[in-house]
Amino acid sequence: MSIAFKIEATSGEARAGRLITPHGEVETPVFMPVGTLASVKGVSQDVLEELGVQILLGNTYHLYLRPGIEQIRKLGGLHRFMAWPRAILTDSGGFQVFSLNELRKVTEEGVTFRSHLDGSSHFFSPESAMEAQIGLGADIIMAFDECTEYPADAERVRQSMELTLRWAERSKKCFEEHKEEVPWGAHCGSREADKSVRPTRADQTQALFGIVQGGMDAALRKESAERTIEIGFPGYAIGGLSVGEPRALTREIVESTVAHLPADRPRYLMGVGTPEEIVEYAGLGIDMMDCVLPTRAARHGLLFTSEGKVSIKQARYAGDEGPLDAKCGCRVCSRYSRAYLRHLYASNEVLAQVLNTVHNLSFYLDTMRAVRHSIALGRGARFL
Ligand SMILES: [Zn+2]
Repeated sequence: MSIAFKIEATSGEARAGRLITPHGEVETPVFMPVGTLASVKGVSQDVLEELGVQILLGNTYHLYLRPGIEQIRKLGGLHRFMAWPRAILTDSGGFQVFSLNELRKVTEEGVTFRSHLDGSSHFFSPESAMEAQIGLGADIIMAFDECTEYPADAERVRQSMELTLRWAERSKKCFEEHKEEVPWGAHCGSREADKSVRPTRADQTQALFGIVQGGMDAALRKESAERTIEIGFPGYAIGGLSVGEPRALTREIVESTVAHLPADRPRYLMGVGTPEEIVEYAGLGIDMMDCVLPTRAARHGLLFTSEGKVSIKQARYAGDEGPLDAKCGCRVCSRYSRAYLRHLYASNEVLAQVLNTVHNLSFYLDTMRAVRHSIALGRGARFL
C-alpha cells in the first residue's frame, strides 16, 4: 500500500476528499507550501504544524546538489532529516533542470546539465530521478518528465510529449524494482528517535504519480492523459503549465485535461497559483497544488489579504496601527500592526520575512479550508 484517496463531497466539478499517506492524512483540495531545500524559507517546522500544513513539497534538484541525496538517505530520509512527521511530496528534478539550466542537453537517455551553484556537470535520467526520490523518501514522488517550453511548435510539443511518455514508463519500471529501498521501509530497523517521523505502518511504500504534458494543445493533452493512464499511476499531475502562457489558456488546458483524468485518483496541478487561481482550479476538480508565490512574495513584502494585495513597504503604512488583514486570524494579524510590519521590512529585519511568510501561508491555507467547507456544503469551490 502507498496511498489511498477518498472523495467525501463533490459540488459541480469540485471535490473535497482525503489523501491517506504513510505520514498522515491530507485534506483536499490542498495547497502545498514549497520547502525547496528541506525548509520553507523563514518558517520552522513547529510553526508549519501549527498553521495546519499537512503536506510539504521538496525539490529533488536542489537537495541533490545540497546536501546531496546520499547524505539525506544516510540520515534516515527527508522526514527525519528535517524533523517533519507529516506528508512530503518531491518533484523529479526535471522542472528545475529545465528552468535553471540554459546549457542543458536532452537526449533519449536523460538530461545533462550544469549546477547553478558551481557549474559542475550532472546527469538526470528517469532512473536516477527515481533513485534520488526513493533516497529522499517523500510519500509522493513524481515521474521524470520534460517540461515543454512555451511557445513551442506542434512537432516539438508532440516529440516532447512522446519523450515524457517513454520516460514515464522507465520511471515506473525503475520505481517498481526499487521501491522497497525507501529509507523508512520495512527493512529499516526502528530506532527510538525515528518514532515521530516513521510511517504509520512499516510495510508502506511511496506513491509514484504520472505527469501529463502536451503543451497548449488540447488534443495532445488528451492523448498524453490517456497514454499516461494506460501506464498506470495512483495519481496524476498536470505539468507544463504556468510557463508563461496567458492565464485564460492555462484554465482552458486544465479544464480540458481534467476531463480525461480518472475521477477516483488525486489530480495535482503543478506550480500554481494566486489565491484566486487556486480557488478556480479547485473548482475545476484539481485536488493538489503547489507554488512558491506565497512564500516568495512574502519575502518581497507582498502580502495577500481578504482585501487584495498589500505592498507593506509603502510609506502609507508607517503609522497604520491596524492589523495587516482584519479578517485574518493568524498569529501575525492577531498580534502586530501594519506599522510594525512596515518598519521591519524597511529595516531589512529577518523577522519581516518570517512574519510575512507566516501570514501569506496562513492566508493560502485558510483559503483552501474555506474552499473545502464550501464544497462540503454543495456550494462549489469558492471563498465563503
Ligand atoms: Zn494573517
